[in-house]
Amino acid sequence: MRNYLLLTPGPLTTSQSVKEAMLQDWCTWDNDYNIGIVTEIRESLLRAAGLDNEYTTVLLQGSGTYAVEATLGCAVKPEDQLLIVANGAYGARMAEIATYQGLNFNLVSLHEAEQVTPAVVEEALKAYPGTTHLSVVHCETTTGIINPIETIAAVAKAHNLTYIVDAMSSFGGIPIDIKGLGIDFLISSANKCIQGVPGFGFVIARKDKLEACKGVSKSLSLDLYAQWSEMEKGKGKWRFTSPTHVVRAFHQALKELEEEGGVEARYNRYKTSHATLVKGMRALGYTTLLSDEKQSPIITSFLYPNDDFCFATFYEQLKQHGFVIYPGKISDANTFRIGNIGDVHPHDFEALTQAVASVLAE
Ligand SMILES: *Cc1c(COP(=O)(O)O)cnc(C)c1O
Repeated sequence: MRNYLLLTPGPLTTSQSVKEAMLQDWCTWDNDYNIGIVTEIRESLLRAAGLDNEYTTVLLQGSGTYAVEATLGCAVKPEDQLLIVANGAYGARMAEIATYQGLNFNLVSLHEAEQVTPAVVEEALKAYPGTTHLSVVHCETTTGIINPIETIAAVAKAHNLTYIVDAMSSFGGIPIDIKGLGIDFLISSANKCIQGVPGFGFVIARKDKLEACKGVSKSLSLDLYAQWSEMEKGKGKWRFTSPTHVVRAFHQALKELEEEGGVEARYNRYKTSHATLVKGMRALGYTTLLSDEKQSPIITSFLYPNDDFCFATFYEQLKQHGFVIYPGKISDANTFRIGNIGDVHPHDFEALTQAVASVLAE
């Protein structure tokens, strides 16, 4: 049932069993769904994150951006001041959301190949001393750069900031000590490292911080507090139609994450896949955009090998070999991206680099 392998930032290649989980229909007020599936998912997410009941989860219809918008629109009150430190398209999108929502915010924009470091955040806090909330992206999927949310956490803590992390493309694939780091809101979605299919996002939040969001949202459908409150009261009930098949697939995907050995085991697979990819591509003469210490195992940007390189042709040739890759997304370098997340394995990256080698020979 596979057309080709998706080596992309999501939607991803999913397992056969995740796809098969969608072959039944579910009633949204029946306990089979609410308690048997939704509640189990919420518990399983906390388990995967190693969290106790100081934390809670909310699932929200839409793609990941909807969950980011819902979080910012609920967590940042009119008297608050948000600082966004961005080094790519997803950080920039948070600023776009804040603009639409009329939030009181400041944006510090770094070059896409530059990491958001504690020093950069400290510097920004000097420029914007009224800051109450800090928002950063963990793995900027724009390039694949990893931002050190662990050391940034110390700055957030020292300044008593509400700490919001877009861990869309890392949660489930890179271990994150949410409680230890004092992350107040962590946002991710169904179709990234948990390896489900697209259709909803989720937020893991400190319960007291989420409770404080009551009445803040200016949007009905993106009111994260109201969604959470309904899920708590209704024991897994969503406001408005929930994406039942997608939710069932996600339930299966979480089971498969546990079977694989949890987040640590998945992280190790992604690292091995990434190392296999980079070794193979470097042997063929390709160069990564980022140096190894800034690079996540999630997705990798490669520079075009020469001025005559045509991405569209390369893309089509690789597709003929059964691999779909992704265009680059940065302004001042010609790159393409290859993702390591999804139900893809180190041997798939051996096969991919062989395919690249044969394309080069064509
Ligand atoms: C995928 C992703 C998002 C959300 O994108 P959608 O297209 O709305 O799903 C947000 N942030 C990061 C870092 C992502 O990788």
